[in-house]
Amino acid sequence: MDGTYDVVIIGSGPAGLGAAFFLSDKRPALRILILEADKFSSGGLRNDCKMNFTYPIGFPEELWDRELAEEYLALVESHLKPEIKTISNVDVYKKRAEKLGVSLLTVRQSHLGTDGGLELIKRLVSELSARGVDVFTECEVTDIAADEKKVVVADGRSFYYSSLLVAPGRKGFRFLQNIMDNIGVKYVDNVVDIGLRLELREEHYPIVADYYDPKFLFPEKVRTFCTNSQRAYVVKEKYKARDGSDFFSVNGHAYTKVARENGLVNFAMLRTVNLTEPLASGQLFAEMLGQQAMLLGGGKPIMQRVGDFRLGKRSRAESFSGDLYDFEPTLAGCTPGDISLAMPAKILRSIWKALKMLDTICPGVLHPGTIMYYPEIKLYANRPVFKNEYFCVKDSVFFAGDGAGTSRGITAAWASGIRAARGILETL
Ligand SMILES: Cc1cc2nc3c(=O)[nH]c(=O)nc-3n(C[C@H](O)[C@H](O)[C@H](O)COP(=O)(O)OP(=O)(O)OC[C@H]3O[C@@H](n4cnc5c(N)ncnc54)[C@H](O)[C@@H]3O)c2cc1C
Repeated sequence: MDGTYDVVIIGSGPAGLGAAFFLSDKRPALRILILEADKFSSGGLRNDCKMNFTYPIGFPEELWDRELAEEYLALVESHLKPEIKTISNVDVYKKRAEKLGVSLLTVRQSHLGTDGGLELIKRLVSELSARGVDVFTECEVTDIAADEKKVVVADGRSFYYSSLLVAPGRKGFRFLQNIMDNIGVKYVDNVVDIGLRLELREEHYPIVADYYDPKFLFPEKVRTFCTNSQRAYVVKEKYKARDGSDFFSVNGHAYTKVARENGLVNFAMLRTVNLTEPLASGQLFAEMLGQQAMLLGGGKPIMQRVGDFRLGKRSRAESFSGDLYDFEPTLAGCTPGDISLAMPAKILRSIWKALKMLDTICPGVLHPGTIMYYPEIKLYANRPVFKNEYFCVKDSVFFAGDGAGTSRGITAAWASGIRAARGILETL
């Protein structure tokens, strides 16, 4: 059935859900439709679901100042009702970090796990349905006809809107670029995060017992990101490059209940790369690095033990069976190899320098058995030219979330959805 709505939202990630909750709170009579390509919303709500309630975690500082972000975070908290985890015993790490010029941010954080995240999504979607919001899953939007105020989905149906919110997340990065090209929105995408994911025994990174996802900020734009523990797994995500070939980025998640405790931790060490003159696309740069890793890894991500890396030799299958290396990688389907052949020297140097600092702050991180997986790539660096503070890009068309560069995490994505929703209310 085709339909006409006051607001159509593309994507049921936190940005889309945040907008829908705010709109239906403010104007219960609005006809709202959410179109979601997947069976459930994807991204972080479904993957470990750590939610951070402290600025600037997740907030691009060029779009959000502290005061504004904190005002929105209060609204986000009222929708998501998080159970904030306690952080204890971190002073010793903080002091060691300060001596090295490293910051350890203490963040108000909740953690639901991959299983708990799925429960949250189901609860949120059923709350929206009870409010009369239509949520159509497995409904991928393929095109937007802005002149007709119409979106077209993969099965050929069309939906009409008065206002449109496009919030397709990182996965929808390319979709968003196509839309911007089609409707004439200018953008750059010159920033990208490139890094490694480490997997190690919990006893070699015991800080996680006191602080679930410790946020260390190192010199040269390197940071720890997305730490998982207790029932933690490294996973790979498939991306399509512009030439149609596939490449992988690794990632991590953890369960709170359903899986067996494996005593492992994983976290990313990311370096932000800001490409300048001649201005290049971060997306293309990341694709090139992803493809290079595929070439060297025989179509798979590369993994290397720290012990081998230190000796300047590639890892081989035996690196994962010796008695020193007493845990199995949780990500099957990686190639033992040499990360230094695949990663640009400047990025590797700054990440390795930061890892040595981290090993001074939390001795044990660079145990020879620690596994480094490559590549971990974060593509969320579209920077559209917005027409106003509410992320409007064209009459009645708004963007929000990670794909549009207005956020870099669940809570900020939710906040950016609310911010766009405020703009939408002004237009209706
Ligand atoms: C594996 C993983 C783990 C993460 N862990 C965390 C974490 O623990 N904490 C944290 O703060 N952040 C985490 N993140 C980041 C977090 O997921 C994002 O910051 C956040 O989800 C962004 O919200 P969003 O609404 O912009 O996009 P998303 O959550 O990605 O949602 C966008 C939705 O749009 C849908 N979509 C895309 N294109 C279309 C289309 N054409 N038509 C219809 N629907 C479409 C997608 O299927 C998706 O469900 C993680 C990300 C990943 C990938």
